[in-house]
Amino acid sequence: MIAWPPPFVPSVPGEGVPLRVHDTSTGTLRETTPGETARLYVCGITPYDATHMGHAATYVTFDLLQRVWRDGGHAVHYVQNVTDVDDPLLERATRDGVDWRDLATREIALFHEDMTALAVLPPDDYVGVVESVERIAQDVVTLLGSGRAYRVAVPESDGAEPAEGSEGAHDVYYDVQADDRFGAVSGWTREQMLEVFADRGGDPDRAGKRDVLDPLLWRATRPGEPSWDGGPELGAGRPGWHAECTTIALTRLGDGFDVQGGGTDLIFPHHEMSAVQAHGLTGEWPFAHTYVHQAMVGLDGEKMSKSKGNLVLVSRLRAEGVDPMAIRLAILAHHYRTEWSWTAQGLTDAQARLDRWRAALSGNGGPDATEVLRAVRERLADDLDAPGALAAVDQWADAALTLGGDVEGAPGIVGRALDALLGVRV
Ligand code: ZN
Repeated sequence: MIAWPPPFVPSVPGEGVPLRVHDTSTGTLRETTPGETARLYVCGITPYDATHMGHAATYVTFDLLQRVWRDGGHAVHYVQNVTDVDDPLLERATRDGVDWRDLATREIALFHEDMTALAVLPPDDYVGVVESVERIAQDVVTLLGSGRAYRVAVPESDGAEPAEGSEGAHDVYYDVQADDRFGAVSGWTREQMLEVFADRGGDPDRAGKRDVLDPLLWRATRPGEPSWDGGPELGAGRPGWHAECTTIALTRLGDGFDVQGGGTDLIFPHHEMSAVQAHGLTGEWPFAHTYVHQAMVGLDGEKMSKSKGNLVLVSRLRAEGVDPMAIRLAILAHHYRTEWSWTAQGLTDAQARLDRWRAALSGNGGPDATEVLRAVRERLADDLDAPGALAAVDQWADAALTLGGDVEGAPGIVGRALDALLGVRV
């Protein structure tokens, strides 16, 4: 697939700082030690609804991470998937009486507009499930062959089509208990896993599974569902959700890439399962060196969710005329590991900050930029402390507005730094 266009990233004088971030799998802050090219995988959207503030916060967080790496002299190979076929998309399309492909196309286009407006750097490889089915099916067949995966018969009442030469239709599941790395990404207890599994796409009640937590790798086609040819071993069907990220990450980045990112709701089962399935395929570990997760974003103190209908949509704010840079600043005012709530006051404060920065940057001369540049770099490299970076810029802006300053070109340097490091165009 083709991603949205990249924003221009200006260069900034001086040197970047090596990034350390919080790794979910070890529960520690650790320095990322990418090679010349840093490798990043961020789980993409299932395009059945518009981008809400939780998504926006996630993509802005990993945008910051990329900017810190780039400033540190690394090239970045960034991969993002698009779950352009899965149950939620098909269910929404059926509910709304639209073709699932049309729904996906429309929501992907809206997502691109939102990301472009928020100045988020696009992935280098932007990969849909539909265009990856053949490769995913090959991996599922490999897992069946090595005994890591197994078939579960589909009840005849489901009306699934059997594979050629096969007695009946089968779904395929990954055997988590056969994998000694299972649980290593989340570090969760079995009780914690069981608590969220069903709500996050799992099917604990499916009869015939070896373990209730085993994830679906391949779903044999049911009447009225789209399907692809999985070859003689799988028959017609479509991949499970985690299998897509396993295959796309391995084919595009290989094992042991630097960072996998997403919202905290992806820690389990999605990131856990993607990683163990990759382990089953390659025998290598880790899948990602560091797992970074964005905390959930609520609305006025409540959990934001589709079922509650209280989603704050980036596209709706844009349609109301809100400056996308104010939206970005409202997000950056919160540390990515702290849960927070979107509020009207938060947006007002962000707009006021943006206005102050714009006024401070309007002159030719200003306070020296050296200290603010150092502070912004240092704060971002310390577990992406965006609020700390914003506070440093505030200090410089306050000095510019109250005391003035006569360093020729300083506002230009600060403006370029805000653009390059924070993605804020002032
Ligand atoms: Zn994923």
